[in-house]
Formats: sequence, C-alpha cells, structure tokens
Amino acid sequence: MLRTHTCGELTKEHADQTVTLCGWVAARRDHGKPIFVDIRDRYGITQVVFHPAISKEAHELVGKVGPEFVIKVTGTVTVRPEKLVNPDLSTGEVEVGATGLEILNSSLVPVFEVDEHVEVSEDLRLTYRYLDIRRRKMLDSLTTRHKLCAIIHDYMDKAGFLEVETPVLTKSTPEGARDFLVPARLNEGKFFALPQSPQLFKQMLMVSGIDKYYQIVKCFRDEDLRADRQPEFTQLDMEMSFVEENDVFNVTERLFQRIFKEIKGIDIPVPFPRMTHREAMEKYNSDKPDLRKEGEDFNLTWIVDFPMFKYNQEEQRWESEHHPFTSIKEEDLKYLESGEYDKVRARSYDLVLNGNEIGSGSVRIHKKDMQKKIFDIIGFSDQEAQKRFGFLLRAFEYGAPPHAGAAYGVDRLVAILTGLDSIRDTIAFPKTQKGNCLITDAPSEIDNKQLLDLGLMALKKGDDDA
Ligand code: ASP
Repeated sequence: MLRTHTCGELTKEHADQTVTLCGWVAARRDHGKPIFVDIRDRYGITQVVFHPAISKEAHELVGKVGPEFVIKVTGTVTVRPEKLVNPDLSTGEVEVGATGLEILNSSLVPVFEVDEHVEVSEDLRLTYRYLDIRRRKMLDSLTTRHKLCAIIHDYMDKAGFLEVETPVLTKSTPEGARDFLVPARLNEGKFFALPQSPQLFKQMLMVSGIDKYYQIVKCFRDEDLRADRQPEFTQLDMEMSFVEENDVFNVTERLFQRIFKEIKGIDIPVPFPRMTHREAMEKYNSDKPDLRKEGEDFNLTWIVDFPMFKYNQEEQRWESEHHPFTSIKEEDLKYLESGEYDKVRARSYDLVLNGNEIGSGSVRIHKKDMQKKIFDIIGFSDQEAQKRFGFLLRAFEYGAPPHAGAAYGVDRLVAILTGLDSIRDTIAFPKTQKGNCLITDAPSEIDNKQLLDLGLMALKKGDDDA
C-alpha cells in the first residue's frame, strides 16, 4: 500500500502518528509561509499544512501542484486548536504537517470544479464522468447502489434463492419495446436480440426445478425518448415455483423492509396496502398513484388485478397489458370463452413507490394450451407463436410447475433512496436522454470492413436506393 490511511479517516486518536495519505488536490491555499492543501479521496478530505520549518523540500515542491494533481503526502497528525476545528469534515479536528511530498501525477486544469456545490451542465458531467464521480453526490449514489445490491444478494441467498445468469445474446422477448439487435457474423443474415428481460429464461429455469431464482441483471429496451429512461437498465429479477401472489408479495415486502431499514434507517410497515387497478383508476386516474401522506415519507403499495388485454386501436388488435405469459383470474375465464376480452383481469401486480412503478410481475401461465390461447387472442398465428416462442411451449410440455415472479427496477430504487431526480445519477456511465454515451461517443459508425464481415450494408433513412 502506498498509503497508511485514507483521507477520511484521521481523528484526534491519531495525534502525533506519522501517516501517509494519497489523493487528489482539492484545494491549495497559500498563506505566505504555510501552504494548506486539502487532499481528497473517496473517503473524505484532510487538510495538510506545508511549512518550510517542517520540510523545506516539501514546501518548495507543493508550489508546483495544481488542482486534481495526484499526490502522496507523509507527515505528522496534529490536533487543531479548538477554534480552527472544521465541523464539516470528518477529519476536521486534525491536520497533517507534511514532512514529505511526492507528485504521483499531474492533471490538466479540470473542466469543472470537483465540488458538488458547483453547477455543471449534465453534458459536461457525462463527457468527463471520471471527474464527476469524484464529486460527493455521485460517490454517495454509487455507494448506496452498492449497498442496495449487497443487501439484495444477502437477503436472497438467505431466503434460499439461486442467482443464475441468463444470456445477453438471445432472441426477442415481448416486453413491449423495440429490441436492440446484434448481427450474428457466423449466421449471415441472422440477428441476436438483447434481452428486454430474462422473462422466458427464468420461466424455463422453473421447468428445470430451480424453484427460487433471482438475478441482478441488465435489460435492454430500445424505447423512444422518454423522460428518465435508459436503454440499458438494471432489474432485480425473481421467479418462484409452487407459489401464488402472496408469496411473491411476502418475499418482496421483507426485502424492502430490510432495504429501507439498512439504507434509510426507516421501519416500513408490512404488508404493503393493496389496491385494485380499477380502484386506482377510479380514485386517482392513475395506475401508479402517489399515496404519500407527508412530504418526506415513503409509500409502497401493490396495484393488483390489471386488465389482461388492451385494445390497440391503431393496429386494431388486442395486446397484453403486462406480457402474454401472465395468467388470468379464475373467475374471469368465462370472458375468454365469450370473447369479452376487456373484462378479463390478469393475475398481475405492480409495486408503486411514491407514484413510481418500481416493479411488476405476475402469476404465470404454465400450461401449453392456455399459453397458445393467449397468443391466439393477441394475434399470433400458431405458426408465428411456434416461431417466436416454440421453445417455451415445448418446455411447458415437460412438466412446467405453477410459478410466479416479479422484477424491480434497481436504478429507480437507488434514485428514490438517495433523493435523486434522475436515474442517470445512479449509473456510473449512463446514456444521455438521446441515447448516447458522451464519454466514448457511442454509438458510432463502423467501417466498411466490419459491415462486410457481417454481410451488412448501412443505409441512411431517406436513401432511395433502398
Ligand atoms: N419480465 C417482467 C418485466 O421486465 C417482469 C416480470 O413479469 O417478472 O417487466
């Protein structure tokens, strides 16, 4: 280790110890002879004082350091006089008298100040994200994200769930968005789709007998520009066999209870209230009503009994409200027979937190004939259903157990837990609202050789030759 302590660690307890700190120059203040440097790392800031009486060499060298230089400082911890204590810093009771200084690297003058109080445009922050992540707001958000995932892993493990990875190069899944496609070089003219969710794989894992599956997983949806969506985002995905709605609610509620306790220190009451979709629409004209009683409050509510189908006027056909793998309420089976599809309620549920849908799921269909019937209603011919989902229908012929599950949005949850407006601030390297990665300038054009290898030709919208 180049350092003995972090920049957020030293207190009165360390008085008179010789320490070595490494970090970035957050500020330099020249007060004639003494020169003060605030040195920063992920953990905090420590004030270092350079004085020729302590070390002439270090004092001379520190004159050369600029903002964001990377330095290594050795010195002695001294307790600051009472009136010079800085209550805003965890290390504010002490300072380090530098006996040695090494410049580990220089820095260009940063394009913006690494201080979260300084307003910076989002484009600039995203272009220089590595500087932005040095700022406290981003560090806190990434730390909370890590804590959240650590709690999830621990909780799911103790509850007997198995994390199983599912493919990223796969086949189209119907979550209602457009797919991102990847050309398959080894199968000319064919494409993989990036998964909109692991829905079909997790259902097949149920057929495999993995009765409690979960995964913290990236999902990809090529959606039109809408406020605060990311083309790639993270879900906590889960599925269980031999269960019903209440079992999914139970597992979820206890998990959220732990998350809120450990991250916010708040006890949230369980079970969460439940409201039917109809009641939510009638009372609040929204399927994700904000049911908070006060400002700072957190309210978690299940919205249940969504309609199974909605009518797509434009295309003049029925489509599924959640996804076509959702089963329907027993008492509404008669409407399937009578063709009154608007009356059919699904065994699906959304979890709503302060007016945001942060998760959804359902009890699934596990019988082939029912699955085929639903495909039929939403307009997939037998042949098409076979082509797109034949593999699932086949799996259902080999002993598919009753199963149910859900998926929760990790990015949105972090944003709500940390009080951030945008999910972009919960992701280290997000895309802009226009779907670009400013730091790498992706997506970018590829050269002709790569296109040729893939057997592709690039056309621009409006090319007549197409
Ligand atoms: N796959 C669904 C989604 O991503 C969630 C679920 O039904 O488990 O919305």
